Amino acid sequence: MHDLNEPATAGRIAQIAVVGSGPSGCYTAQFLLKADPDLHVTVFDRLPVPFGLVRYGVAADHQGTKAVIRQFERVFDSPRVRFAGNVALGTDLSVAELRENFDAVILATGMSEDRILDVPGARLAGVVGAGAVTRFLNGHPDEAEVPLVCGSDIVIIGAGNVAVDVARLLAKAPEHYEGSDMDDDVHQRIVPGLVSLTLVARSSAETARFDRAMVRELSEVPGVAVEVVGVNAAAADPKSETLRTLAATRPESARVRISLQFATTPVEILGDARVEGVRVRDASGERVIPAQTVVTAIGFTGHYAEVADPSVHAVGWAEHGPTGTIPETRADAKGVADAVRAGLDTASAPMPGFSGLPPSVRDRAVGIEHWKAIDTAEVALARPGRVRQKVRTWEGLLGHGPATVRHGQHGQERTDR
Ligand SMILES: Cc1cc2nc3c(=O)[nH]c(=O)nc-3n(C[C@H](O)[C@H](O)[C@H](O)COP(=O)(O)OP(=O)(O)OC[C@H]3O[C@@H](n4cnc5c(N)ncnc54)[C@H](O)[C@@H]3O)c2cc1C
Repeated sequence: MHDLNEPATAGRIAQIAVVGSGPSGCYTAQFLLKADPDLHVTVFDRLPVPFGLVRYGVAADHQGTKAVIRQFERVFDSPRVRFAGNVALGTDLSVAELRENFDAVILATGMSEDRILDVPGARLAGVVGAGAVTRFLNGHPDEAEVPLVCGSDIVIIGAGNVAVDVARLLAKAPEHYEGSDMDDDVHQRIVPGLVSLTLVARSSAETARFDRAMVRELSEVPGVAVEVVGVNAAAADPKSETLRTLAATRPESARVRISLQFATTPVEILGDARVEGVRVRDASGERVIPAQTVVTAIGFTGHYAEVADPSVHAVGWAEHGPTGTIPETRADAKGVADAVRAGLDTASAPMPGFSGLPPSVRDRAVGIEHWKAIDTAEVALARPGRVRQKVRTWEGLLGHGPATVRHGQHGQERTDR
């Protein structure tokens, strides 16, 4: 075990691979660099652009949260860090290949598949996961196709922050996205005529997972009226109190009506070819909420990172599952960076790092200058009132930047992901 107040590497350069450039990968790289001048870090990502859910999950109108990207960019300014985008672990390279070329491997691949609701009708056309909707609204290249056209009535199942984010994003009119990077064409294609939006939550108001600031923000969207159902009138907890305040300030006329329904269990999604409604059960029995679209926001799933070898570590959502905020990943990253440094074997022969990987991997990788070119192009393309216009396709993302000149034909290879 090394003394963590001293550089762990004793003058020998140690090569560290971080797979995944979301917050947990970026924070881990940042801690490693700061702690030890002899550590060199390569951050891989399957996408040609970095920053994971900060770019592709956090809402377009929460640019303050997305600003952490500027902090992460400074990590890549270090000559000891390389970004290797467009390289997927499991497809383009294996953990074994990383083990052969790096002193330690850190898996920070996240977990962002939508959990499927376990009720009849959950796979009908018109049912879509919140992750798919937020990826689509954020211009993720895997969601280039319109996932749905919502119709006038939407039911969102769930009452966590992602459910509230989706409600706000769908309910807001284009003129209220000032200062965001929302793509208006895309937004209008999916919510051309929204009238009513119902959030259905099995949990009580007291135990629902939303943050109070998030529902307050929802109620402040211009042109929406918020109704709250299923909140115990006598409950004195902060969430119930916040919800009661929202209900009391309901405007008379509204473009979109939002109903937040707690202690309400979805029983079945109804429809023949596609969604027509949701049957729910609450204390007074069963009823049907009409809907042309159901967005399930009941959490995420995926594969936990496999850590069979002491030189392989996992961090963030890939390590503990799909919960927690960006600041929480920072705390995880600190612990993992310390564990990596403590476990380094400084007596062994130096490792080659990125330069030891097969040419097939090195040639397809795009560096941070590729991201910088995309960033510059997106900002330059921004429409009035917007801070950027995102490049939305694999082809477009691989067609920008110096890597195109160097490596040519990537565009066609990844349109299937
Ligand atoms: C819709 C949504 C909104 C959110 N909004 C907020 C918010 O406003 N504020 C907040 O604090 N938190 C928010 N969060 C939570 C926050 O995004 C997470 O805490 C954080 O992103 C988790 O970081 P991570 O690095 O573990 O995973 P991710 O951010 O998912 O990063 C994983 C990275 O790994 C890459 N990857 C995956 N598989 C591979 C592979 N096989 N090979 C190579 N690379 C791979 C991915 O492309 C991605 O870049 C939100 C989450 C969601 C889903």
